[in-house]
Amino acid sequence: MMKRISILGSTGSIGTSTLAVAEQFPDRFSVVAIAGGNNSELLESQIRKFRPALAAIAGEQAAGELRKRCRDLPVRILSGVEGMIQVAAAENADITVSSIVGTAGLVPTMAAIQAGKDIALANKEVLVTAGELVMAECRKRNVKLFPVDSEHSAIFQCLHSGERGDVRRLILTASGGPFRNHTKKDLAKVTLAQALKHPNWNMGRKITIDSATLMNKGLEVIEAHWLFGMGPEQINVLVHPQSIVHSLVEYQDGSVVAQLGMPDMKGPIAYALSYPDRLPDVSPGLDLASIATLTFQEPDRDLFPCLGFAYDALRAGGSMPAVLSAANEVAVKYFLEEKIGFMDIPRVLSAAMDAHTPVSFKSVDEALKADLWARHEAEKIITTVKRKA
Ligand code: NDP
Repeated sequence: MMKRISILGSTGSIGTSTLAVAEQFPDRFSVVAIAGGNNSELLESQIRKFRPALAAIAGEQAAGELRKRCRDLPVRILSGVEGMIQVAAAENADITVSSIVGTAGLVPTMAAIQAGKDIALANKEVLVTAGELVMAECRKRNVKLFPVDSEHSAIFQCLHSGERGDVRRLILTASGGPFRNHTKKDLAKVTLAQALKHPNWNMGRKITIDSATLMNKGLEVIEAHWLFGMGPEQINVLVHPQSIVHSLVEYQDGSVVAQLGMPDMKGPIAYALSYPDRLPDVSPGLDLASIATLTFQEPDRDLFPCLGFAYDALRAGGSMPAVLSAANEVAVKYFLEEKIGFMDIPRVLSAAMDAHTPVSFKSVDEALKADLWARHEAEKIITTVKRKA
C-alpha cells in the first residue's frame, strides 16, 4: 500500500535520509508535504524532485522568494510555526516524520498527533521536553509513535521477542563519541572541529556535539523512559565504540536480545515508515567476520557528567528534563559559535538545573514556559562563565 509521508526538517540529516528512502521505494512512499528551516535552496530542489503539494520554510521572506522561484510548480508554500503545523498535519498524510532539531519541533509534532497522524519520531527533544503530554495525546488519538533514533528502533525491535512484563532492563549503546579515551585535561582543550568529527555517524551539528558530551545518550535515556515506560533504574548505558549493536533488551530469564546493523540511519527510518514490513536492501549488509571485534565498556560518568544530569533530571521529574534540554540547546549553540569551551557545556547545564525547582505541567504552553526560563537562565550563566574566563 502506498504510504503518504510528511517531513518536518526535510533539509536536515534525518530529513534527507528520509527522502533517500522515499526515492528508493517510489511504489511504497509518496512525499506529500515537507518543511525546512533556512536552507531554501535545498528545499526548492526537494520540491522539484518530490513534488509535494505543500511546503513550509521558517522565514516569511524566504517563503516569499521560494514562492516566486517555484511559480511553475503546483505547490503551496507557507512559513513560520503556522507553516510547520500545516505540514505536520497535512490533510492527506498518513505519517509525519518529526525531524526538526530541538524544542522547535514540539508544537508541530503535537499538531500532527492531534490531527491523528502516525509519527516517525527522530526529534528526541520533543519527548524530553514534554514526554508525558506527548504520550498522553498519542493514547487519546490512537496515534502510533515509531522511534527513528537507532537505539530506540533497536529496542522497539528487541521488544518483539517477549512480553513487556518480562523485561528486566533496557541497555542503550553509545559510541562514546570522539573523546572516549580523553582525560579531563585533554577535554578542556578540545576544539570545535574535533568535537564535530563523530567517529561513526554523519549527523546534524547539534546532535554531533551532544554525542561528544554524552548528553545525547542522556536525552535518549529520557526518550526511552517515555517510549517504553521504564524507570531510570531499568535503563542502562553501555559504551560500544563500533556502533554495530544498536541496543539490547534483557529479559527476566537472563536472556539478552540485541539488534545489530551497520551505522546507517536509513535502516531505522525505513522500518519506522514501513512497520511491520521490512524493505529490501535498505542499509549496507553487515559483515561480522570483517568487523571481527565488538567491545563494550561502562561509560565514564566522571569525565562525561551530562549523562548523569539526564538521570538526575528524570528522577526530579516535572519540568527538569525540559530545563536540561533547553539549557543544553543554548550551551551547544554557544559552543558551536566558539563562544564557550567544551567543558563549559556541563557547567552551564549543572548551574541551570541547580537554579530550577521542577513543576509539573498540564499543557505544551507550560512546557514551553519552562523551556524559555531555562534559555534565559543558561544565557545568564554563560555571561558569568565568560566573565570568569
Ligand atoms: P539537522 O541539523 O541536520 O537538521 C535539522 C532540521 O531541522 C533541518 O531541516 C533544519 O532546517 C530544521 N530546523 C531547525 N530549526 C528549525 C526551526 N526553528 N523551524 C523549522 N525547522 C527547523 O539535524 P538532524 O537531522 O541530525 O537531527 C534532527 C533531529 O533528529 C534531532 O532532534 C536529533 O537529535 C534527532 N536524531 C538525529 C539523528 C541523525 O543521525 N542525524 C539520529 C537520531 C536522532 P534548515 O537546515 O533548512 O535550517
